Amino acid sequence: MQLPSLEWVNQDSAYLRQLRGGFTWLRFADELEPAFRTYHAQTHLQRMRGGLLVAIVMWLLFTVFDLHMLPEAFRLQSVAVRCALYPVLLFNLWATFRRRWILHLQWIAGATALAGGLAVDGVIWVARAHDFALPYEGIILMTVFFYFLTGLRFVTASICGWLTFAGYLAVELLNGLPAQVLLPNAIFLGSANLIGGFGCYFLEYSSRQTFLAEGLMQDIAERDFLTGLLNRRAFSERASRSWRQAMRSQQPVAVLMLDVDHFKAYNDHYGHAAGDLALQAVARTLGQHAQRPLDMLARYGGEEFVGLWVGVSQAAMLELAERIRADVEALALPHAQSAEAQVVTLSIGVAYWPSPQPNGLEEAQRLADEALYAAKAEGRNRVVGKLLNL
Ligand code: GH3
Ligand code: MG
Ligand code: MG
Repeated sequence: MQLPSLEWVNQDSAYLRQLRGGFTWLRFADELEPAFRTYHAQTHLQRMRGGLLVAIVMWLLFTVFDLHMLPEAFRLQSVAVRCALYPVLLFNLWATFRRRWILHLQWIAGATALAGGLAVDGVIWVARAHDFALPYEGIILMTVFFYFLTGLRFVTASICGWLTFAGYLAVELLNGLPAQVLLPNAIFLGSANLIGGFGCYFLEYSSRQTFLAEGLMQDIAERDFLTGLLNRRAFSERASRSWRQAMRSQQPVAVLMLDVDHFKAYNDHYGHAAGDLALQAVARTLGQHAQRPLDMLARYGGEEFVGLWVGVSQAAMLELAERIRADVEALALPHAQSAEAQVVTLSIGVAYWPSPQPNGLEEAQRLADEALYAAKAEGRNRVVGKLLNL
């Protein structure tokens, strides 16, 4: 894929890494593959439903056709084989409406497709066993279906396609179809699989490209390009959501403002590029302390960061802030111009809300800011809490 210059995207972006690394074998690194599978299942849900409806209608037509056109000797047998597929098709259709099953749809649809393929093989078997020259082209139709209409990924579709092909060969060989008839049939059916597989590969490849491009766009919109942390706008949006959630579940919320000490002097002394590296190292350390789904850490601007934690006790929150401060100090990034320590340090202001109120987030941020100023005034490289009930 031709990409615009991405120098201004955070270089740690998993999407960028994957795009640069390529994915010829249709597999992403473990950090992205599960997310892609969910994305693929969601984006192909309508196609799968539509495909199943088409399959049911066509299967009905063929059942009616069998009832009217096949010789009586094996008509019922053939229709019985067809009828066995209806519950499978209907179950698959029902499964597409179960939200929680979204990740299981791939193997459910794979099993349905395979059952369909083998059912056609079965109908041919019944016909051959009664010396009836039922056309084999139904399997070609089925194969096209697997690759393009079911929403199956390349590997699943290929397994279904080639197993159905193998089933067909077995049926014809066991029923003694002459080689001069079987060979062209096998060539056509094999070609259908190759063409379908080729098309399906590129469909999935495009789907993976789109997934990465959308992920990159999201990173560009939400992540700070230097540190990879959330940017201020994304923080505001997500923090408001977390605040409302905490209000509903009556959980405490803590807001932290964190600011690197004497960073202007650091830049003046070591240069802006070294300053950037120091900020990245500090951000990495901060990020390690916000690992739970609702934890949030963002670059507020310049050398200032903001964080939000939900459901942590006052004492635990102060301990956490202290650990963050100590971990940044322990990075031991030399800072010759710092009056308090000879290394890069952080001052942290903590505002703690035992039970969040509506519109309280701005107030919490303001209080955390006040606490941060107090930490600066009291000598930097420390944590100050504006904590209710403390
Ligand atoms: P204090 O201890 O009171 O916080 O002092 P300070 O020098 O850290 O605070 P001040 O606000 O005066 O300076 C912040 C500096 O951070 C100024 C700016 O050069 C630097 N800075 C902001 N963003 C970046 C950045 O992206 N990269 C680098 N290298 N420096 C940055
Ligand atoms: Mg500062
Ligand atoms: Mg500052």
